[in-house]
Amino acid sequence: MDLRVLGSFGGDSPTCRMTSFLIDGVVVVDAGAITRALTIDEQRRVRHVLVSHTHMDHTATLPFLIENIFGTHPDPVSIYCAKRVLGAVRRHLFNNDTWPDFTRIPDHLEPSVRFHEIVAEQPFEISGLPGGDLEVTAVPVNHIVPTTGFVLRQAGSSIIFTSDTGPTERIWEVANTTPDLRAVITECSFPNRLQAVADISLHLTPATLAIELAKLHRDVPVLIYHFKPPYVDELRSELASAVTGRWIEELVQDRTYSF
Ligand SMILES: [Zn+2]
Ligand SMILES: [Zn+2]
Repeated sequence: MDLRVLGSFGGDSPTCRMTSFLIDGVVVVDAGAITRALTIDEQRRVRHVLVSHTHMDHTATLPFLIENIFGTHPDPVSIYCAKRVLGAVRRHLFNNDTWPDFTRIPDHLEPSVRFHEIVAEQPFEISGLPGGDLEVTAVPVNHIVPTTGFVLRQAGSSIIFTSDTGPTERIWEVANTTPDLRAVITECSFPNRLQAVADISLHLTPATLAIELAKLHRDVPVLIYHFKPPYVDELRSELASAVTGRWIEELVQDRTYSF
């Protein structure tokens, strides 16, 4: 599976795009930067969007994607999220106030988007990817709003994206029992001096990331995303010494990874 990092940050600035990954050119995981990183032609190839949670750094460009590609494909774009996430996305993003309700445009029989409710730990498949069918399993994590990470499996390789989370358990258990795991993408948001902010918003610092990674008993690369833009330099220097004894590196925006 090819994973192109459209945005790897937990906030927005001219050099930091918000969280969004493109898989095989067709599936997007989180929607923080789709329309900021992809050309219109590339946006037209996107047929599926997985949404981990409603925070804007994961959803902000979803309305603009739908508007940009509206009417160019016979089938609607599929948006997948857990029940409580789905309700909030519809209520807050496609409510005819902040943006039109594209589930009724051009009409409800042939909508531009279609929502799919996903159930925790029940795998489902998305077909039509160049690298083969993608099996997706949502796993709840511990964030300030309902949030799921994802296990993404294609052609005998799995990666895990934890999405935003504070200290959590289940997704590490899943990681430890995923036989074909190739990499984990997890978060680090605030420097250690802002531990109280991280704790109250259910995010990680380098110190709490190190505690989380002690739960991961797998020798796979750990790729870190979600630095908050004001603290990028501080986080890079703290991370360099926070976790030892395993392969850990920053997830690089605009790079394409093959798993
Ligand atoms: Zn976030
Ligand atoms: Zn969040």
